[in-house]
Amino acid sequence: MSSRIVCIIGHPVLHSRSPLIHKHWLSVYGIGGDYVLEDVPPANIDTFLDSLRKSRYVGGNVTVPYKELAFRKVAQADTVAKALGAVNTLWLEEQRLCGGNTDVYGFLTQLDQSQPDWPLRAKTALIIGAGGVARAAIHALIERKIQNIIVVNRTLERAEDLAKHFEKRAVPADFADLPKHLPNADLLVNATALGMKGQPSLDIDLALLKKGAVIYDLVYVPLETKLLANARALDFATVDGLGMLLHQAVPAFERWFGVRPEVTPKLRELVVADLEKDAAR
Ligand code: NAP
Repeated sequence: MSSRIVCIIGHPVLHSRSPLIHKHWLSVYGIGGDYVLEDVPPANIDTFLDSLRKSRYVGGNVTVPYKELAFRKVAQADTVAKALGAVNTLWLEEQRLCGGNTDVYGFLTQLDQSQPDWPLRAKTALIIGAGGVARAAIHALIERKIQNIIVVNRTLERAEDLAKHFEKRAVPADFADLPKHLPNADLLVNATALGMKGQPSLDIDLALLKKGAVIYDLVYVPLETKLLANARALDFATVDGLGMLLHQAVPAFERWFGVRPEVTPKLRELVVADLEKDAAR
């Protein structure tokens, strides 16, 4: 198992914290492998994925904008990747390129650990956003049998497409109707880029939100978004986006290196320190 090399494939990819996470685990578990960045421009991505089997890599992560393409390229996909039509983890089995998706696992593990009783309280979930991460969140909530899932998005067609993808188990809604849905939401998920460094914040009137609701912001740069700060000030339970990032890495590391790694406070501190450096830039 030693000297296995894994990469993260994206464009751009420099911002990724995955090398920090996986290199930390390689060091903690005394494994002699490596985890490197592969910034692959769109013109080269087909060739890159087609030749991965013959490269120095034993697998990789896939990030924006290639998760859907990677799904189409693999010879075999796991159940979650098939349900999402997106792959974030690649590995080789008998020289065949295989793909899986660990985002749903990351989303749920972080939520379960931060708010252990959330599924008992959650009848209605309100997802804001209809991109790749929203897709993973909706799949996770359907898996947990949440009764009502409402997807609000700036571009309504994308929310409608997601609802179609999930056979209408999620209901699309217009961004302008957000205030109407807040009083019924037990779980509010921000799956948009709003609140990210360099983006406007997600400004919603939390006074309208159902009492006792959980607010889960998937943005993690910065870690404390305005949405989370406002929610805490109003005594709502909150979950930040960093845990999802850390937990989605666990099954991938295990697959490549044969050890199930732990998400420890030390790992979190390491990544938080790196995020803070970024925020100060
Ligand atoms: P994506 O596929 O590009 O989707 C972006 C979403 O944000 C779309 O719903 C888009 O709406 C919405 N959006 C962007 N700018 C907006 C604006 N100005 N006003 C309203 N809506 C806006 O991206 P993604 O991969 O789903 O990622 C979304 C965010 O989730 C990222 O920014 C990242 O912070 C976070 N994320 C976190 C994790 C984690 O592990 N915690 C993992 C992946 C992503 P339209 O459809 O109208 O464009």
